[in-house]
Amino acid sequence: FDDDLKQGLAAFAALLDASDTVVPFTGAGISTDSGIPDFRSPGGLWTRNKPIPFDAFLASAEARREAWQRRFAMDTAFNAARPGPGHRTIARWVASGLSPAVITQNIDNLHQDSGVATESVVEVHGNTTYATCLSCGRRHELSWIRPLFEAHGEAPDCQACGGLLKTATISFGQAMPQEAMRRAGELARRCDVFVAIGSSLVVHPAAGLPLIARDSGAWLVIINREPTPCDEAADIVLRGEIGSILNDRADL
Ligand code: NAD
Repeated sequence: FDDDLKQGLAAFAALLDASDTVVPFTGAGISTDSGIPDFRSPGGLWTRNKPIPFDAFLASAEARREAWQRRFAMDTAFNAARPGPGHRTIARWVASGLSPAVITQNIDNLHQDSGVATESVVEVHGNTTYATCLSCGRRHELSWIRPLFEAHGEAPDCQACGGLLKTATISFGQAMPQEAMRRAGELARRCDVFVAIGSSLVVHPAAGLPLIARDSGAWLVIINREPTPCDEAADIVLRGEIGSILNDRADL
């Protein structure tokens, strides 16, 4: 660690020690060590594939085929991914009562896999490890959808109502999940410390949460390998690798 990072880490450890409520907010950067590429880094998902907007998914069987194909191409990475040191640190904060919940933009289920109860993971962009029906909301497993998709070249319809199935993620142009956004806002407004971890903080409205927290009186900490638009507003910026900053150290 360079001197800046060492000083920042000491300040962060002292802050955690002095705080009652710490809310972690995670982005794709916390999962890159687990083998899931992020969106915007070189070679990330964004640079390889343009996202399929929600209205295109609804309108065209071709777009749906493309979306499912891409999703199943990621199956190996998603199925093999295991929580990393960052996920484990957060799971410890939740288990000790320091964190009431974790807010995540990630869709990979790794916070739940690290032992955080589903109700304590506030997913603002949904979850890609299962599908839901766009009409009735019923959950369907990908292990059921995949062989049917491969046999017929399209995903099956909902078993309950015949509606369209889609991974339970929020696509561009799709409404944000209201209850998750409400909870995220409340957590941001009520915490002592808000820690943004591994997010480029450019996708709104989720990226507005750090500033909501700060404007409500919380200390703002940012952990990321690159600068973010919120760095100037932060009290502590830890610029470096998440896997070495949140590395199962006893004092964090
Ligand atoms: P992003 O790709 O925009 O930003 C990730 C940030 O993390 C970047 O600034 C990058 O420099 C940093 N980073 C990557 N690996 C790091 C590491 N090991 N240590 C420190 N910093 C690291 O991701 P975002 O802000 O989460 O927004 C993108 C959207 O993409 C989200 O809405 C999310 O839904 C989706 N997404 C999710 C996953 C996932 O679930 N794991 C993966 C890719 C994209």
